[in-house]
Order: sequence, then C-alpha cells, then structure tokens
Amino acid sequence: MSHKNIALFVAHVGCPNMCSFCNQHIISGKQETATAGDVDAAVKTALDSGCCDGQLAFFGGSFTAIDRPYMMELLSAAKPYVERGDITGIRISTRPDAIDSEVLAILKEYGVEAIELGAQSMDDHVLTLNRRGHTADDVRRASRLIKDSGFELGLQMMTGLYGDTEEGAIFTARELIKLGPKTVRIYPTVVLEGTELADLYSAGKYEPETLDGAVKTCAKLLPMFEKAGIKVIRLGLHSGGNVEDGYIAGAYHPAFRELVEGQIYFEKAIEKLSQFEGGNDHTYKIFVNPKEISKMTGQKRQNIVQLKDNNYICNVFSNSSLNKYEILIEED
Ligand code: SF4
Repeated sequence: MSHKNIALFVAHVGCPNMCSFCNQHIISGKQETATAGDVDAAVKTALDSGCCDGQLAFFGGSFTAIDRPYMMELLSAAKPYVERGDITGIRISTRPDAIDSEVLAILKEYGVEAIELGAQSMDDHVLTLNRRGHTADDVRRASRLIKDSGFELGLQMMTGLYGDTEEGAIFTARELIKLGPKTVRIYPTVVLEGTELADLYSAGKYEPETLDGAVKTCAKLLPMFEKAGIKVIRLGLHSGGNVEDGYIAGAYHPAFRELVEGQIYFEKAIEKLSQFEGGNDHTYKIFVNPKEISKMTGQKRQNIVQLKDNNYICNVFSNSSLNKYEILIEED
C-alpha cells in the first residue's frame, strides 16, 4: 500500500554552494521556504481532508546543514504530530557531507524516520564539475552512519550531468546498490533557467542528454535497482512546480517512468522476437501480465509501431500467470 506524504520545501536553505543543475525555486514552484506555521497548516489541511497517512517530508534543501535554530523550529513543529500518530514520521533530504552522529541523534529524537542523500554521482570528477562540494566517499560514509543509526536510507542519483556518461551512470548505480539503500530516486538532468548548466549549454560547452538517451539509460538502471530489491520511488523530475516554465533543455517528460518501463518491454520483446523470422506475412501475440499491457504497448502505441518498423507485426494480450517484465511470444 502506498502512503501519501506531506511535502514541505526548504528551497536551497543550508546549501553551502549552488550545484550546477539546481534551481529549487523552479523545481518546487515555491519562492518561500517553509516555516513552523507551514508545518502546522500542512498537517492540519491533510488531516482535515482525510489523506494524511504517511510521512511529513522536508525536501529541496540541505536539511541537516540549515541553521540549527531553524532546523529545530521545523522539527519541533512536526514532533507533536508524530507523537500523536497523525503522521508516521518525518522524512528529510540532505547532503552527504552534512551528516554526523550529533545531527543524527537530534533527528532521531524528533521522530525522523528516513534520510535521503543527494549522491547524484559516485564519480568524483563529475561531482567536482557539477560543483557538488562533496566526494563519493562522503556518500559512502554518510550512508553507513545513517543505516547504523537505524534510519531508513534513501539515495538520489542523476544521469546526464556535465561530464557524465551512460557508463558513469551505471557505475554510480552499482556503487549505490552496494550501500544498500531502501529507496532510490533517479533524476535525468534537466537544464533549468538560472543554473550554471544553462550557461554552459548556451556557451556550447555542455550537451544535455536527450529524452530518448535518458529513457534508454534509465531502462538499464531501473532493473539493476529492482533486482537488488531496492525500490525506485521516483524516476524523472516531478511534473509539479514550474519545471515546464523554467525548462531550457534536457530529458524532461511528465510521464518519464512510463517511457522507461515501456522501453524495458520494447527491448525484451525485440530480443525474443529476434528468434522468429519476422516480415509482413507473420504476426505475433505478445503476452504480459494484465497490469503491464499499457507498458508493453507503449505511450501512443509507440512500441507496437516500433516493432512494426522492425518487421514484427504484434498484438498484446494479457496472461495473469506472468510476472512484471515477463513476456511470452507466440506466432499467430
Ligand atoms: S542539489 Fe541540493 S545541495 Fe545542491 S543546490 Fe540543490 S538543494 Fe542545494
């Protein structure tokens, strides 16, 4: 069962520097940063509407690097709701170099359950180029500390960063898997207004990932995490906020995950169909789990069209004995 979280944004608060790709005001669509009053208001609104059964999440900044009095103000406002069971706990996102035992003890005391670290890449050169201000070893150290202290660990990575490659993204995914997070978020890089990447792009120094390229890369990453039992809770930037207004270039699509899952099915189908002869006088039945039919078909029947372009005329049928990503093909 999925739970509905209440998200509050502390846009850029605590960030010691501006990462090359980041404009949280555009991503979150908010100019103002959350206050204790906002915590109260958000939880009460969620309670009144009867949809408050998850965590209170502070996103969009470096939560554990923000001024202590302000951090404590937000946590103190949230704590009574955790104690009363109105929310299950608190979730925060932060930087790997802003984690130590002292801050973890405070988070524990205030009911924080899950900590998400922005790792973004596990290649130090890519981290430096994108002005992250931390190393891959900081991610390893912070992840261990978070898990050893009994928190749920979430890790976030990006694809298509300045200086990165598909091999680099696969390396990052492998390194993150070794750290044993419970959840992962994967964000293909989107060039947003007001960022250093926007300047590099307009100067011709940075070539953003295409949507197609990002879909193909993420179609490799998603199964890696899932095979390791790690839940990918986000693929692609959220379509809320002002992303569409602030978009300059890069891999953005409001239904990015669907595109990636469709690509996984397309690649599986092509691999299996290659054992058949193909051609206009041959048609094929592709069977998938009933819940997966739209993914096999693809957005706007894209997969069926592409299979036809590859000389395979296919129709999709359901078979409830098949698991996710499992397909069966019969010649018609
Ligand atoms: S990516 Fe994270 S640390 Fe970097 S500027 Fe954005 S919110 Fe701050």
